[in-house]
Amino acid sequence: MRIILLLLLVGCTSLGPMYGQRCTSQTDLENISASDIERRNRHLQQVESFLASHPVMDRNPITIPIVFHIVYRNGEENISDEQVLSQLAVLNEDFRKLNMEQDDIPFAFRYRATDMALNFVLADTDPNGQVTTGITRTFTEVNNIGSKFLNNRRSICYNDLGGHDAWCPEQYLNIWVGALESGLGQSSFPGLGPLEEDGIRIIPEVVGTVGTVEPPYHLGRTLTHEIGHFFDLYHLWDNCNAEGDGVEDTPPQSSSYLNQCPSDAQFTCETLDMYMNFMNYTDDACMSMFTHGQKDRLWAVLNTSRSSFMNEDNCGLVSNISSSSEVPKVQVFPNPSSDFIYINPINSKIDRLVLIDLHGKVCKKINVQTVNNYALIDVTDFVDGVYYLQISSGTQRWSKKIVVQKTIK
Ligand SMILES: [Zn+2]
Repeated sequence: MRIILLLLLVGCTSLGPMYGQRCTSQTDLENISASDIERRNRHLQQVESFLASHPVMDRNPITIPIVFHIVYRNGEENISDEQVLSQLAVLNEDFRKLNMEQDDIPFAFRYRATDMALNFVLADTDPNGQVTTGITRTFTEVNNIGSKFLNNRRSICYNDLGGHDAWCPEQYLNIWVGALESGLGQSSFPGLGPLEEDGIRIIPEVVGTVGTVEPPYHLGRTLTHEIGHFFDLYHLWDNCNAEGDGVEDTPPQSSSYLNQCPSDAQFTCETLDMYMNFMNYTDDACMSMFTHGQKDRLWAVLNTSRSSFMNEDNCGLVSNISSSSEVPKVQVFPNPSSDFIYINPINSKIDRLVLIDLHGKVCKKINVQTVNNYALIDVTDFVDGVYYLQISSGTQRWSKKIVVQKTIK
């Protein structure tokens, strides 16, 4: 990792970012704890095996629910809902190849740019089944909380350390927005770190495209880059090592393009550099694409280490389930479904099932006492997309994701 000295300019009042590196995510890869080595290696083997055995894989677009945990020390860090929503819009453009910079991609690379087939929504249901905005707000007195640890626990990820507990990381992409000591963002890699901290840390000044953002990090690309790491994509530059990022269609490269915005061809390893790839450090305005190879890797991760985003079950971290309470067992099939969904509540303690959409609107309510062994929900009139089945037992609730997809064959 290159070391860059920060120059502190006397009298400079601008918040213009002077960060030595855009993200510190790959630093974690260089310092894997002994306890994580086996888990990380298992993840890598799973991904490689999946890629080798699935040269063509099913990649119908999926939707990932996001929760933003804003942990702030002052009003400026407590960024607005509007700023968060502007970030969401960027993600849904960048990961669907809808960003307007497509025309800026050099001709040599245009055919490598691809739709990653990921959609993102703000979570509308929290882990307890309650309707939510998908944004939590926590005042903290801890400086640079995103970089602070206490007893090896990352402070921003825990209520008792001044941050906010994760929402079930197997169902939600947790994004903590708070101050960092260095860098603009930092992401967990699959197979590394405790589940309670699985997610992304990012500073408020680079979230979205409105509010407190400033050039050159004013177009929301920091989070696009960090989500790439979350799904095990790597930086492109690695001293001209052709296998540096594990992806075949990204050329070898030696420069990170930090604080640069090239407008013409760039060469660092005797080949044309893909400086506009989202996994470089290039200025926001000059990032524009993921490749087919990166998509293959991301989808291999979605089918292995992070498969819970495609087929999640009840979450082990739901806060209102005590260790002695019995998690209800519910069979839901087929899922995804195009017409009817059978719901079989095996546990007789379940007394109510509610199907809601991503906006929190109740689509169906089922009193379990009125059915015999199973409930049948007709979804033929439903719009394609993600829904949540709330499962109630007394005062406790759980949720399960259901996908309605009419194109199933
Ligand atoms: Zn990075």
